[in-house]
Amino acid sequence: MQTGRFVDLIHKKKEGKPLEPQEIRDMVSRYAEGKIPDYQMSAMLMAICFQGMDDEELTALTLAMRDSGETADLSGIPGIKVDKHSTGGVGDKTTLIVGPLVAACGVPVAKMSGRGLGFTGGTLDKLESIPGFCIDLTEEEFFRAVRASGISVIGQTGNLAPADKKLYALRDVTGTVESIPLIASSIMSKKLAAGSDKILLDVTTGSGAFIKDLEQSRELARRMTAIGRGAGRETVAMLTSMEEPLGFAVGNNLEVKEAIKTLRGEGPEDLREICLALAGMMLSLGKEGLSYKEGRSLAEETLDSGAAYGKFLDMVEGQGGDLSYIENMDKFQRAACERELTAGEEGYISSMDTEGIGITAGILGAGRETKESVIDHSAGIVMKKKIGDWVRRGDAIAVLYSSSEEKLDRAERCMQRCYTISDRRPEPLKLVVDIIR
Ligand code: URA
Repeated sequence: MQTGRFVDLIHKKKEGKPLEPQEIRDMVSRYAEGKIPDYQMSAMLMAICFQGMDDEELTALTLAMRDSGETADLSGIPGIKVDKHSTGGVGDKTTLIVGPLVAACGVPVAKMSGRGLGFTGGTLDKLESIPGFCIDLTEEEFFRAVRASGISVIGQTGNLAPADKKLYALRDVTGTVESIPLIASSIMSKKLAAGSDKILLDVTTGSGAFIKDLEQSRELARRMTAIGRGAGRETVAMLTSMEEPLGFAVGNNLEVKEAIKTLRGEGPEDLREICLALAGMMLSLGKEGLSYKEGRSLAEETLDSGAAYGKFLDMVEGQGGDLSYIENMDKFQRAACERELTAGEEGYISSMDTEGIGITAGILGAGRETKESVIDHSAGIVMKKKIGDWVRRGDAIAVLYSSSEEKLDRAERCMQRCYTISDRRPEPLKLVVDIIR
């Protein structure tokens, strides 16, 4: 038990000296118990933002946050359980496709997902746009669903990594979110507590990611894989492009419909490609002796056979969702108002402010402004053009959906600033930028 003054530890970090693992463990447990006030912890977080943490400190911080609460025990589910986590994106509906795809190949998916955060969307909010779909299963129901159909996606159960929850809320209001060691330990503490055997991290990079710079994203990926290694869990990171939204749809039921189309073989090419890459990697982690290339081929065959779509139907049915919406997507609630956004000039769409597009979707009602906000599942954006497309003045570039004209006015002003049009055709985007093991 640490007996020294916490202020001395703040000085130590401020001066760039590494903290001892025991000092970090004491700090986390005392903060979780309310024995360190927020103002002192804020100073420590800021010192970490400026001075960073070495791998030993980072592993100690992550494990202390993991051990601050319960850890899920998935050993009752047969097979190697592989978790996938995205560091956040816009139009990122990959879990809805990759989960059933991997499960259809025989690797169980027992996944705890999150809600939207800032300008990024969340899988739980998307799934809840399917009427009846329940994300609050008890542990017993969760296990039963995975055993029966090979897949279940739910909200975080129990008291997983409560120290992270408390620290995250403090970071949110003290300007200390964008720190690589703090992001890495926050994500990995929850992944390690969630109990899977292996972890695939989808580390997004570019204008719609939390970390926009490629080298910094690579560093985040390296730090997280190092934590996984330190904790004895095989962890692979794929660096994927978030320079534009994935697919065309941004917003909850719009994204569910696009995921269903992709599972039926009618989805956008970029979304299909990224899902095959992620599923291929999950399969190579979950099946002994299977290479990434073989995993990708298996994923492609399985997607094209319709088996992944069948698994998605099993998952929806198993969690109480109304299958008639999946079979007839016209049943999904449609927004009361819509507006077409047109190009103001001629040229190639050369770049997008993808964070701005995520913010626009939030203004339309697809995200939360406060913790209490209720999501409008039908609100969002359908992109009509992507980076590299040629547009003429007046061509439709996107359609905005919302519940009121007033929201459309605000969103239109925001969205208009998100496109750069130029007369030079941009280089094609590389979807999987790098793989870090
Ligand atoms: N997601 C998390 O869970 N934590 C962070 O710090 C950032 C994104």
